[in-house]
Amino acid sequence: MNEKNLDNPLLRSFALPPFSEIEVNHIKPAIEQILQDNREQIGQLQQLAAGDWQTLVQPLELLDDRLSKAWSPVRHLNSVQSSEALRDAYNSCLPLLSEYHTEVGQNRDLFEAYNAISQHADFARLSSAQQKTITDSLLHFKLAGVNLTGEAKQQFASIQKRLSEIQSSFENNLLDATESWDMHISDTQQLKGLPDYALDMLKQYAEQKSLDGYRITLDMPCYIAVITYADDRELRKRIYQAYTTRASEQGFTDKKWDNAAIMVEILQKRQEKARLLGFENYAQLSLETKMAASVDEVVTFLHELSAKSLPAAQAEYQELQQFAADQGLADELMAWDLAYYSEKLKHQRYEIRDEDLKPYFADEHVIQGLFQIVQKLYSVRFVQVDQGIDLWNPDVRFYRIENLDGALIGEFYLDLYARNGKRGGAWMDECVNRYVIDGETQTPVAYLTCNLTPPIGDQPALFTHDEVITLFHEFGHGLHHMLTRIDVPEVAGINGVEWDAVELPSQFMENYCWERQALDLFARHYQTGEVLPDELYQKMLKAKNFQSAMQMCRQLEFSLFDMTLHQQSDIQSAQQIQQILDQVREQVAVVKPPAFNRFQNAFAHIFAGGYAAGYYSYKWAEVLSADAFSAFEQEGIFNPDTGRRFLECILQQGGARPARDSFVCFMGREPDIEALLRHNGIAH
Ligand code: ZN
Repeated sequence: MNEKNLDNPLLRSFALPPFSEIEVNHIKPAIEQILQDNREQIGQLQQLAAGDWQTLVQPLELLDDRLSKAWSPVRHLNSVQSSEALRDAYNSCLPLLSEYHTEVGQNRDLFEAYNAISQHADFARLSSAQQKTITDSLLHFKLAGVNLTGEAKQQFASIQKRLSEIQSSFENNLLDATESWDMHISDTQQLKGLPDYALDMLKQYAEQKSLDGYRITLDMPCYIAVITYADDRELRKRIYQAYTTRASEQGFTDKKWDNAAIMVEILQKRQEKARLLGFENYAQLSLETKMAASVDEVVTFLHELSAKSLPAAQAEYQELQQFAADQGLADELMAWDLAYYSEKLKHQRYEIRDEDLKPYFADEHVIQGLFQIVQKLYSVRFVQVDQGIDLWNPDVRFYRIENLDGALIGEFYLDLYARNGKRGGAWMDECVNRYVIDGETQTPVAYLTCNLTPPIGDQPALFTHDEVITLFHEFGHGLHHMLTRIDVPEVAGINGVEWDAVELPSQFMENYCWERQALDLFARHYQTGEVLPDELYQKMLKAKNFQSAMQMCRQLEFSLFDMTLHQQSDIQSAQQIQQILDQVREQVAVVKPPAFNRFQNAFAHIFAGGYAAGYYSYKWAEVLSADAFSAFEQEGIFNPDTGRRFLECILQQGGARPARDSFVCFMGREPDIEALLRHNGIAH
């Protein structure tokens, strides 16, 4: 390492990232340097005739760990404190990293060395985490095309490249089509029904374009506000039509953004890729890295949930139709009427508003309540560290998790509030992985990031109940990352956990936001100290399952569409895609959308994102989390023995064994869908 490198904080070894020292011009040189060093070392390692864990896997792990520790703060800063210069530096590293990962994934020498380790008599002497690391790696090599040769290898590489381009075009078309439609309104009368906050937002949208009055766009908050609250039915129809035809031949904007041909090509390329790797279709390839054993198991699961939910969803829909008729809707209830009448029905029935609950959810109360719940369950404690931590923003808090003897288990940054330059949504990301090497323990560190309501004036921040759920959810991911006892980074925490099981610990934590005993720990009025009144609590519980069967059926429709689509081997046209969607709707949908609807052209989860033949994962993991929580419902939601079992069987295990084994360890049986149906008020 030369002197120049020592000036670059990303090239130094550190326990926690030196955020205040990282400058934009450090980023690309650091990543280039690390990739170059890694390539050199890999070149030497692959010369080894017969490597073992110590001589081959461990050195590779160290290379990964160094890269991950340097890249993680960059990725994090780009998400929470973005600037144009930072985004450019970040983006300039993406192709370098993807090229590097492809190269390693297709490295035949490394693959054979791993294979030799798995065949060797000593394999049985490795820990189960080490064994799982080797078998996971072998699978990843195979799925990266390591076994392909000659023309097939080239074809595979060109498919990968093409897929990354067209998946990204799908997303760009969608974004451009979404952003290029708007509607200017000067007459307030036309916006009757919209709450003040929505009118303020529309006014701001108009001002951004130097217009008077109001401007409607297809941004999510704007679409939701208009479709839910606008009394003007024609206006609702107009925005519904604009929104559900984005990036399609039916759309109101330029046809160059039509995603139809791209969707067909994406499906074809995925199919070719699956074929090259020896699978019949892409759904099979996707299931290789999932907890669900086969395509059949997923499809059967979805149909079973659907059979149980459909009658309840139909009843909910009929009730809504009746309500709309009673409210004076003369003709049929249409797609653009659903949200509008649903909101009115919900309000009439439960008389509950977000504002009623907020005073009971002050930020510090919620955080302390969350900590108490975790302390009761897992016998750990939380200590805030105020001094000596390099933070990217003064609002960020930093905590240690210790066992009851004071030994360090993990640490986390908590960045709660929405602010400029911070990406929307909420997420947990890893900063440092747990890693035990030569007897030294590197404890895990997590970033917990949310965009919750910030404090206003000298009042504490007051959260909505949804925001409290979000925080609990992300904290569940964080506990999975931080409470792991696995020593090998590839399968510690959330690493190596199957995609369709990774939401188990997060959705599990959400349950505590609905339990009286748990709420009593923290839901106290920020001014009077009064506990959440029972009347409010009961309303909250009743409103929880409003139209939950209809929502369930919608998710099942998306999941089955995704799964069916990726089982086809002969998609030639967008019409075929539409037909498949229509058939799925015939089977599982309660509400049939109008013929112009092109939902599929905007289904980025499966066409651009990582959910291809994997959208079912949301429901799959929800079954696991609801079922696991049912054990606490029976044995006591704070039962320390049940808590220890959950900790030891699931949270501590990370990806060191199949998720199914961890689940069976905890429950003593296979997963069951009953608890999920009960929590949704669908079965009792
Ligand atoms: Zn999650």
